[in-house]
Amino acid sequence: MKESVLQEIKQFDIRGKKLLIPKMHPFGAPLLAACLSAFSVDAIVMDTYLGLSHGKKYTSSKECFPCQVTLGDVIYFLNKEKNRLRNKFNPKEYVYFMPESDGPCRFGMYNKLHRIILDSISEYKGIYISYLSTENSYDTKQILPPEDASRFRKLAYVATIIADALDRICFRVRPYEKEKGSTDKLIQKGLWELIKLIEQKGKSLPFSELFDLISLIAKQAAQLIDRKIPRKPQIGIVGEIYLRSHPESNQNIIKKIESYGGEVTNATLGEWINFVTYEEIRKLKRKIKKDIREKKIKSALFNYKQLFTAGLKESYQKMRQKQVYKAVLKHLDIHVDHEISHLEKKLDNKSIYSFEVGTEACLSISGALSYIEENFHGIVNVYPFSCMPSTITSAILKPILKKKHIPYIDTPFDGTIQPNREMSLKTFMYQASLRKQKFN
Ligand code: SF4
Repeated sequence: MKESVLQEIKQFDIRGKKLLIPKMHPFGAPLLAACLSAFSVDAIVMDTYLGLSHGKKYTSSKECFPCQVTLGDVIYFLNKEKNRLRNKFNPKEYVYFMPESDGPCRFGMYNKLHRIILDSISEYKGIYISYLSTENSYDTKQILPPEDASRFRKLAYVATIIADALDRICFRVRPYEKEKGSTDKLIQKGLWELIKLIEQKGKSLPFSELFDLISLIAKQAAQLIDRKIPRKPQIGIVGEIYLRSHPESNQNIIKKIESYGGEVTNATLGEWINFVTYEEIRKLKRKIKKDIREKKIKSALFNYKQLFTAGLKESYQKMRQKQVYKAVLKHLDIHVDHEISHLEKKLDNKSIYSFEVGTEACLSISGALSYIEENFHGIVNVYPFSCMPSTITSAILKPILKKKHIPYIDTPFDGTIQPNREMSLKTFMYQASLRKQKFN
């Protein structure tokens, strides 16, 4: 591996630079940028999907699709900046933010590949790349001053759950709106109000104001529903987080399903963050067991301390997540997020799949089984073409759901238009509506 790959992807105090954030989620990315602004970081959400041709030009297409999309986003942004600033353009003023995971799939490699490619373009050589990692459960201590890091993480967590809640308000209201387009309009307005509030007061962690605001948005959204329209077939989406969350990459699959007569529930961003914390706790428990077995008392004590902190973090996240959902549920019956321990139980004591194997397959398989338990009428697996965890998900779910006669469809994406996609989705929705007629 090139030396620059190891040296130039690092965690450091990001204040004073322009932090470039990929727009993975229409609400999550701008809310995260607002949280960073509240802590004096100049965060910019980059336009997305407009630079896909750049992403494809510099890769071989063996890479994961999100890797190509995000690469295209950063090159597109830098090209625009270079044209705007001409000889004043300096790549050292920017930090490209690309989180990573500690395996076992390829997400940990995106920022390394991006480093090599950006270094190969002379004007962008040396641009900083920073990251947060699942390895320490997205600890922010290395990128912000210690006095801000923990407050920032709390704010960013709540902002992420609020992004999930905005999504779920859309999913619940849009298929039943009296006036077409009114839900999206209301949510966009609400999003800007949330951003303003976070930017102005975020540092003081104004949680009750944020809960009041999301509650008000839910109240206004509830009034958009035409109560005469009967409930539609419930469709659960599982799969890879980037593709599920990024309407441009998934060719607007949620709105497409809605236009074919479904009501969608997508797995959330919060589910992934909670899973990462849950995994951190599992790993620490394993380490402690090993320490005790090997009589490494000092290490065991250290890991106990870590475990205690991770436990507090998990409880904090659960509490905040409940508060956000409670604020919305006062006015609107959105689908509540699955708890990770509940999801693990769905795997039937490891006989279906094991959390020991890791990856999003843990969440997708168990999430789909939970949807079924909650009487959903169909499951859609949304993922990048050739994604490893989603292929495992498909292999495990298909036979289980076939046996239960639950409509299921795989929807891999790689930026091309699949000629039979529309027809398959329509057929899937027809099957889901038959299931609804039969069972409710
Ligand atoms: S989850 Fe899928 S798309 Fe994401 S890095 Fe792993 S293999 Fe690639």
